[in-house]
Amino acid sequence: MIDPFPRLSLAHLPTPLEPMPRLSAALDGPEIWIKRDDCTGLSTGGNKARKLEFLMAEAQAQGAEIVVTQGATQSNHARQTAAAAAKLGMECHLILEDRTGYNYENYRFNGNILIDVLHGATIEHRPPGLDMRQELDLIVEAMRDVGRNVYSIPGGGSNPTGALGYVTAAFEMLSQFEAQGIAVDCIVHATGSAGTQAGLLVGLRAAGSPIKVLGIGVNAPRNHQEEAVYRLACATAERIGKPGLIARADVAANCDYVGLGYGMATDESNEAIDLFAQTDAILLDPVYSAKAASGLIDLTRKGQFRNGERIVFLHTGGAASLSAYTHEFDTMAVA
Ligand SMILES: *Cc1c(COP(=O)(O)O)cnc(C)c1O
Repeated sequence: MIDPFPRLSLAHLPTPLEPMPRLSAALDGPEIWIKRDDCTGLSTGGNKARKLEFLMAEAQAQGAEIVVTQGATQSNHARQTAAAAAKLGMECHLILEDRTGYNYENYRFNGNILIDVLHGATIEHRPPGLDMRQELDLIVEAMRDVGRNVYSIPGGGSNPTGALGYVTAAFEMLSQFEAQGIAVDCIVHATGSAGTQAGLLVGLRAAGSPIKVLGIGVNAPRNHQEEAVYRLACATAERIGKPGLIARADVAANCDYVGLGYGMATDESNEAIDLFAQTDAILLDPVYSAKAASGLIDLTRKGQFRNGERIVFLHTGGAASLSAYTHEFDTMAVA
C-alpha cells in the first residue's frame, strides 16, 4: 500500500509506546498511554520527521539542491526540515512568520530558531497576517527563475506525500497495541496543518481499525480545522489507491483550547506542562503538545474520557521551543 512511495530513513522508528501510570492516577480517569513521537530523533524529535522521510525522498528523486518551506518563528517543522536538509547535503531556506508578535529575546533567538541556524538554514522573516503560502510560492518562483532546482514543502509538511508518514505511523501503532495486548478507544493529539491527523485516520481505516482520533486544535476554529483534515485525508486516501476511505464523520477536532491564538500559552497549557513533567517526566511545548494535553486533562475532568477507557496521547514533539518560552515560567523561583 505504502511500498511504492520513495522513502528515506530519517526518524528513529518505531518510537516507544509507554503507559503513563502517574498521570493516569493523578487524573483518576481513563488509562493513559503515550506514543513517543517526541523521540523520532532528527534534531530533538517530533512528528515532522515522519513526514520528511517521504517529502525529502521526493525532493531527492527530483534532483533538488535546495528545500524551501514556511512556518511560524518557532516552527518545529522548519527545524526538522533544516536538520533533514543538512543530513542529506542539501540547502534549506526558511520563511518564518512572526505570528505571536512576541518580542522576547529568547523567543526571537532561542529554541527552534537557534537550531535552524545551527543546521545552516537561511532564514527570512515575515510580519503576521500575510498569506504565507503565497510568500512561499513567490520565493520558490524567484529561485526557479535563476535556474535553481527547488523542492517546495508546504507549511507543516502537510500534503498527501507528508501525510504518508502518519499512515505508516498508524500501522506502527496498531502493531504495538497488538504486541502490548491493549485495546485503545481513542488517540488524542495536537492538530495544526492537518497532516498528522489525516495520515493517522487513513492508516487506521485502511487497516480496518475503528479507533477514534481526536485532534486538539492549536489555531483554527473547529469547522475549519475538521474540513482541512477531511480534505487532506481524502487526498491521502486517494494517493494510496483507496478513494472514499474516509467519512466526514470520522474527522473530529476540538478547538476549545487555543486560547488567545497560535503560539500563545494559556494557564491550562502551562498547567499541563507542569503536570506531565512532574508525573511521568514528559516534556511538552506551549504551542502544540501542551494545548493537546490541556484538552485531554479538561475533557477527563468533565467526564468525556472516563474510567475504563484507554486513551493514547500521541506526543508530537515540540519541546525544542521551551527555551523560547522562558517568559511563561517562574525560573527565578529557584534562588
Ligand atoms: C506540527 C506540529 C503538530 C501538528 O501537526 P500537523 O500535522 O501540522 O497537524 C503538533 N505538534 C507539534 C509539536 C508540531 O510541531
